[in-house]
Amino acid sequence: MFVDSHCHIAGPEFAADLDAVIARAREAGVTQALVILAADDEPELQQAAVVSARWREARYAIGIHPHAAGAFGDHPARAAGRLGGAVAAQPLARAIGEIGLDYHYDLAPRDAQRTVFRQQIRLARDLRLPIVIHSREAEDDTFNILAEESAGEVGGVFHCFTGGREMARRALDAGFHLSLSGIVTFPRALELKAVAKMVPADRLLIETDSPFLAPVPHRGTRNEPARVVGVAEAIAGLRGTTTEAVGLETLENFNRLFSP
Ligand SMILES: [Zn+2]
Ligand SMILES: [Zn+2]
Repeated sequence: MFVDSHCHIAGPEFAADLDAVIARAREAGVTQALVILAADDEPELQQAAVVSARWREARYAIGIHPHAAGAFGDHPARAAGRLGGAVAAQPLARAIGEIGLDYHYDLAPRDAQRTVFRQQIRLARDLRLPIVIHSREAEDDTFNILAEESAGEVGGVFHCFTGGREMARRALDAGFHLSLSGIVTFPRALELKAVAKMVPADRLLIETDSPFLAPVPHRGTRNEPARVVGVAEAIAGLRGTTTEAVGLETLENFNRLFSP
């Protein structure tokens, strides 16, 4: 059994064939998923009802992505308000996310990203929900904000972790889980393969980040939850264990972190 701990299947990319996507996931043994919803995307929030009608075990994380932080930079309270409303309206919300900092694409001003990230951590603490962190080329600011806002009290996960062993150590020491995606299957991701070997079994999660990040040999196509099995397989090879064992360990971690 497997869980895809990060996918965007309530997005428009899956509207046309959601039934088939979920059927393939079930067939592959993927019994659960954490579906990411953007708090500022009304159609996606609505589509969650369609996902739940087809996949009873689906759970949700809701947040304002750093790419969208620009709209809230001057009105940070509005970000928390929007998010709080969306979480209150979704009884299967189990996390706040994805939230964080993305200095790679810089689609929103960095000060707005930081402000909105802080606001959402505060709300997560108020609601006692773990957080799903998106951090890209923003390592120091991410860890400083997590520490200053006492995010360790609620914990959570660095999703689609692509850092090196040093950053992994830092995230683990701060009390967070690491979620590995299909990037771990890329031949040149040597440092990430080293991370896959060092993460303690009780802190590891796996994800697809569908529709993004299709693993080898599907690179360049739309990704989907069934392919999380390939991520587990790659990690199992690196850790010298079985695909099924990685599946069960990460499923257990998932249920502990995001209470079923
Ligand atoms: Zn992300
Ligand atoms: Zn994502």
